[in-house]
Amino acid sequence: MMRVNPIGLLLTIVAILLPIIWLPALNHKGDTLALFSQYMGIASLIAMAIVQFISTRWRPVEWLFGGLDQGYVFHKWLGILSMLFILIHDTVDAEMNHLGGQNLLEEFAETLGELSLYGLLILVVITIATFIPYHLWRWTHRLMGLFFLAGAAHYLFILKPFQNGDPIGLYTSAFCVLGIMCFSYRLLPARMRPARAYVVDSTEVTGNVLAVTLKPEGRPLRYRAGQFAFASFVGSEPHPFTISKAPTEDGSIRMSIARLGDFTTRLHRNLQVGSKLSLEGPYGHFERKNTGGQELWIGAGVGITPFLAWAHDLAPEDDAAHLVYCVKSEAAAAHLEELKALAAVKPKLTLHIHSSATDGRADADSILAITDQSAESLTVAFCGPKQMRQALKEGFAKNGVTGRKFKYEEFEIRTGVGLRKFANLLFNRIAIPEQIKAQARR
Ligand SMILES: Cc1cc2nc3c(=O)[nH]c(=O)nc-3n(C[C@H](O)[C@H](O)[C@H](O)COP(=O)(O)OP(=O)(O)OC[C@H]3O[C@@H](n4cnc5c(N)ncnc54)[C@H](O)[C@@H]3O)c2cc1C
Repeated sequence: MMRVNPIGLLLTIVAILLPIIWLPALNHKGDTLALFSQYMGIASLIAMAIVQFISTRWRPVEWLFGGLDQGYVFHKWLGILSMLFILIHDTVDAEMNHLGGQNLLEEFAETLGELSLYGLLILVVITIATFIPYHLWRWTHRLMGLFFLAGAAHYLFILKPFQNGDPIGLYTSAFCVLGIMCFSYRLLPARMRPARAYVVDSTEVTGNVLAVTLKPEGRPLRYRAGQFAFASFVGSEPHPFTISKAPTEDGSIRMSIARLGDFTTRLHRNLQVGSKLSLEGPYGHFERKNTGGQELWIGAGVGITPFLAWAHDLAPEDDAAHLVYCVKSEAAAAHLEELKALAAVKPKLTLHIHSSATDGRADADSILAITDQSAESLTVAFCGPKQMRQALKEGFAKNGVTGRKFKYEEFEIRTGVGLRKFANLLFNRIAIPEQIKAQARR
């Protein structure tokens, strides 16, 4: 489910639909189907240019799409939509009868169009196959820009029912230029993009997390509690981590890093005090706001990080908050002592530990019971694994906590398209004997 800002959504829809106003004037010979196909090609270029724009992580992206995490979800679906547009453009003959034969350049442009189509098709399949390791996916994802470039060249040089200098031609070309600029920007080395220099000041293992304090070498980041930044260590690609503790007087911040894959395991093993890194950001709209009601914060595993920042930030005049920290066991719980100390001195913060080893699986009803909260006037904020989020969202919805009263941080930049969920649904619906299903689940 997407929670993208309606402004970004609306502007995107308008940008894609606007060329329709120029189409009637181009339909001289009643070649409606071919003209529709031409429009599909244009729509795909506009959508892809916006996709490239989102991947720059420029400030307006945050504002337009309601946070970078939502921007990325939108980026994925818009990319898939643009693929659909291209497929229609390729399937429905776009050749208009009155235009005559093609010259050599126009034939070459046609070949570029084919190249762009097949390249993008392969890359979109790779993108939605979430089992492909992230670093491989990221590498192949970069190629998208090249195929966009091929698509833009196809558009500029192909024989079409209007000139590049006509209003519709200029409009579409402007999006091509925007897309190419954004793609080129993403290719720049990290040091040439706006980022702040930091150095590792101290490290500490807490539960299953490595807490890293970072000191600014120049101007520090300006930050709001709950935001995250992309950290690039020397020779590594940027990885997003939440700032789990606000800047201190010298501008130091803290990131709390769980061992989730190759890169984070390497950090746990080798990160040295004095290592240099750059931080890009901060990003994100996962912030707490006073509404006059009760707040329920649920952090699962390393999903506790934004709530650590919120807890540090909670002032005596703020709304009261219950923080439920869901952990496998207390021994694995990161920053537990710090949270207990904060709850002891902050009158508006109540801490509850839910350990799955002793308390079983956390669900909406059990959380409402341990916090002694009624669902009326309750705002729930969650950060943690996606499956848990979906289960809690459904559970809280049954209790009347719906829509924007259940907010969450998207902790995965690369999300699937629900294929696994769809497969599970099919699997559970089709008439396979229960015994075989049970075996398959094992
Ligand atoms: C908004 C946000 C906030 C986050 N905050 C924290 C935090 O406070 N603490 C924490 O431990 N983790 C946090 N994460 C998750 C963290 O970014 C990944 O765990 C980490 O990048 C994994 O890298 P890896 O190579 O070790 O693991 P891999 O096994 O390579 O990847 C595991 C998963 O992490 C994601 N990932 C991997 N590399 C990148 C990358 N370069 N950029 C973006 N995503 C990537 C992918 O979804 C991948 O499937 C956050 C993620 C997001 C999106």
